[in-house]
Amino acid sequence: MRKYVKVHDIDNVAIAVLPVMAGEEICEGITANMDIPQGHKVALEEIPADGKIIRYGVTLGYAKDLIAKGDWINENMLDLPIPPSLEDMQFAVNLNTDLPKAPARTFMGYASADGGYAGTRNLLGIHTTVQCVTGVLNVAVDRIRKELLPLFPHVDGVVPINHAYGCGVAINAPEAKVPIRTLRNLVHHPNFGGEVMCVALGCEKLTVEMLLDPKDNTAENVIVLQEVKGFDAMITAIMEMAQVKLEHLEARRREELPLSKLLVGMQCGGSDAFSGVSANPSAGYAADMLVEAGATVMFSEVTEVRDGVHFIGERCINAEVGQRLAQEMRWYDQYLANGEVDRSANPTPGNKKGGLSNIVEKAMGSIAKSGTSPIVEVLSPAERPSKHGLIYAATPASDIVCGPCQLASGIGLQVFMTGRGTPYGLAGAPVIKVCSRNEMKEQWPDLIDVNAGPVATGEQTIQQVGTTLFHTIVNVASGTEKPFAEKYQLNNDLCIFNPAPIT
Ligand code: CA
Repeated sequence: MRKYVKVHDIDNVAIAVLPVMAGEEICEGITANMDIPQGHKVALEEIPADGKIIRYGVTLGYAKDLIAKGDWINENMLDLPIPPSLEDMQFAVNLNTDLPKAPARTFMGYASADGGYAGTRNLLGIHTTVQCVTGVLNVAVDRIRKELLPLFPHVDGVVPINHAYGCGVAINAPEAKVPIRTLRNLVHHPNFGGEVMCVALGCEKLTVEMLLDPKDNTAENVIVLQEVKGFDAMITAIMEMAQVKLEHLEARRREELPLSKLLVGMQCGGSDAFSGVSANPSAGYAADMLVEAGATVMFSEVTEVRDGVHFIGERCINAEVGQRLAQEMRWYDQYLANGEVDRSANPTPGNKKGGLSNIVEKAMGSIAKSGTSPIVEVLSPAERPSKHGLIYAATPASDIVCGPCQLASGIGLQVFMTGRGTPYGLAGAPVIKVCSRNEMKEQWPDLIDVNAGPVATGEQTIQQVGTTLFHTIVNVASGTEKPFAEKYQLNNDLCIFNPAPIT
């Protein structure tokens, strides 16, 4: 097994595959000057003060002081570079069409009546205009699950779309369009089968008219609690409406569909220094295969691409898509600046413990999950794609906020890469967990679906793990395989991105 991973020829650092003891030889001519934790960086050559620290072929930062060959480089030893300029990016100069051939071209999904992306599950989604109705809805949902769901064996579950938005918010603020768009697009998620059911309060700012299309805003689809006499009648009304919707959903059947009907979201969270060499590149390989087969793959997380945005710009299919990318980045730069921070506020204590020194290193690893294919469209958070291929959606990087944004965009499932581990899951679509290290799989054997650790140790290739992941994606999309988070119903709350003021 190899002791270190060096990514690019010009790198002057490598990461330790396992913990290294002081005095231990890492490779020929390089001995560790001190203990180096797993995943952390070791200097392969002497780096002078202000010298570049290079990994992935890019400058992670500048050495604060002289670093000797064999030294451990931790997050306190480098200064952050300025982010890449958004003004002079090059577009459409790196358009790779030589993608790995996918071993499958179809899956078993639920065709959507609107001709858009297919569903991967058959779920009753119950939408809400405001958090105030959540208590009542949850009581009703408990009873629907116990009393009604067993009568409909072809329906997989009931998903209340509970959220913190809807009232006490500046509903007319320009950025209120983000949470409103998110909630509106969730109504049309392909897993909900075109059935619309909404529980409203009656006095909230996010009115039913704002949430639903006019054709959907009917007495058959909407219950307004303030118009119902008492609690018992509310529960009865919700259950009666649910029964009708479940009868409709019960008729849905899977059919063989081309992969062009599948939309897959990619996300990472709890990343470590291995994420960028094992889990994310494997996901990127699977993404390339999906795109080759005609599927659509969405990646996101603005602060985790910002430092590598010039690489993404080069892959934008034309200047129009590239300018849209620059525009989304500028918006997010300003959003962060308004809060008197920048993208360096992203990394967590766990990221750093896992060897990620700063946001540049995290971003370079994060981008790897997008694979190599051209980017055909750039979206604002929670917008629905209009193109097929690789798509960038400019959502926050926070797992629990990115998830609902991608869900609103219509993802049939999400692939989630982790180094430190998170039990995260979404009720509306299955989440496949991919880990970056063997130790993570050993720690959580019953939470991690695919282990990319053998890529870090050199025992398997990115192509091997990426192909395994591709098959897992197709199986999960087809319903023949359930990832652990779905099996255990590990469903995070829907944290809707609201960049607008709360009143
Ligand atoms: Ca994330």
